[in-house]
Amino acid sequence: MADGTLVGIDLGTTMSAIARLDRDGTPETIANEANDPLTPSVIYLEGNRAVVGKVARDAAADAPDQVAMFVKRDMGSPAYSRRVDGRVLRPETLSAILLRKMRMDAERRIGGPISRAVITVPAFFDDVRRNATQDAGRIAGLEVYDLLNEPTAAALAYAMQAQRRAGHRTALLDVPGGSMTALVFDLGGGTLDVTVVRLRSKHFETIATEGEVQLGGKDWDEKIVEHAAREFERRFGSDPAEDPSRRARLMVQAEKAKIFLSAMPSARMEVVHAGRSLELTITRKEFEAMTAGLVERARVATELVVRKEAKLAWDQIDTVLMVGGSTRMPMIKDMLRKLCGKEPSDQLDPDQVVAHGAAIHASILAAKAGEGTLPLEESIRSDFQSAAVINVNSHNLGIEANRPGRGTVNSVLIPKNTQIPFAQSRVFYLPAPGMTKVQVRVLEGDAEEAAYCTCIGDCWITGLPPDLPKKAPVQVRLAYGADGRVGVMALDMTHGTFARTEIQRASKLSDEEVRREAEFVASLEIH
Ligand code: AMP
Repeated sequence: MADGTLVGIDLGTTMSAIARLDRDGTPETIANEANDPLTPSVIYLEGNRAVVGKVARDAAADAPDQVAMFVKRDMGSPAYSRRVDGRVLRPETLSAILLRKMRMDAERRIGGPISRAVITVPAFFDDVRRNATQDAGRIAGLEVYDLLNEPTAAALAYAMQAQRRAGHRTALLDVPGGSMTALVFDLGGGTLDVTVVRLRSKHFETIATEGEVQLGGKDWDEKIVEHAAREFERRFGSDPAEDPSRRARLMVQAEKAKIFLSAMPSARMEVVHAGRSLELTITRKEFEAMTAGLVERARVATELVVRKEAKLAWDQIDTVLMVGGSTRMPMIKDMLRKLCGKEPSDQLDPDQVVAHGAAIHASILAAKAGEGTLPLEESIRSDFQSAAVINVNSHNLGIEANRPGRGTVNSVLIPKNTQIPFAQSRVFYLPAPGMTKVQVRVLEGDAEEAAYCTCIGDCWITGLPPDLPKKAPVQVRLAYGADGRVGVMALDMTHGTFARTEIQRASKLSDEEVRREAEFVASLEIH
């Protein structure tokens, strides 16, 4: 049994938060060194020194080459999109620096060690991105207890809060009225997740999920930058956005203007470049016109998940929960109100709710594992022990196969939005006689063509008898675990040989790689 406080971490694109539960099961965010509940997900590197958070973000305009931000968007890629301090770094490693700093600050504040964490990921993250997130935790020296989908985390925190408001202290995870279907609309700094969840007594079921990993507040900021740069160019003939440092400064100004426009009808910006300066006023109306295309993308994703994936009518949605800082923009609330025909709820703190849900989930897991050291009141612990959280997979999962006339396809065994854990078998036929081993490639992705899917790993079915004819049947079973992990098994149906198979993950870092990256992170002086 591990010692140390159990925490939930929302590893966000722009902001991150860390939370734990107090004795009576109430989630609380652990403030960082600067006494802020949120830490900007920004890392400044210079030699063996790293600065994380607000100070790093403030440095972005003056020293863009030293700063990494929006790292989450690159999760799953072999390297961060550009060099930082002249170095090519993995997104996992940069995220680990952030995690390490958050952990250090939190340990100082609570006065004890933190060894295990539930880290949240967008529901739409595929296996490669999930593994990268888990590796980030490992590099930071954390035992990643579980990865949790952000909307599920939000729903958990919502259910808990609704219960508290209704004045109940026990039976924490009951839903007022017995059952509720919620649409969780999560628009953060870099990603959009739209998910339908059903909450029943202590039972959290994800019905369907859809999202865009490349749609978030940053895109709204960029529209303002484009607008400001165009206006400047029209006046003075040169484009300030072409200069990386100027562009970084403009991004900071644009975000400020955007946030201002959530509360006020107009915002001012001063664009300074090449010895000239332009005073710019942007009205909310103009801002809404220039970002209408982004809102439309969010609307389409929402419509898709409710109507097509969850197959629900709008009146079957009981509540619309807004999560993520970008839902503070009035245009988002307006879009949701029009689309869903009801007032979206903003009762939850959109910035902290995900970390809170992660902390609840961590305690549910620990209670279920019978951990005696969990610092929770007995009634709360027994409530958590009987809670069930059920998720769906967010992408089709299948086996690479040749289909006559179609070429190489993803032969889907577990369609997207299937509740997990789930396993499914299908019979495939050997393409040639006398094959003693066959490679099974596991694909994740929603396109039919294998080339447009991600190979998340492969395995060899070995030990097949040498006398198998062409088209001999082999049954392949794909199992998707509740933790999102994937396993493969295969059976030669001619002789009944059960072929032993082991999935070789294409993405996960080896223990050696994690050790090397961890060494690098540990060698940094982090502030
Ligand atoms: P999150 O990843 O959930 O922390 O969301 C961060 C995003 O929310 C960033 O793009 C912020 O600029 C944006 N954001 C935060 N507050 C506001 C606000 N009041 N109005 C508009 N956007 C906001």
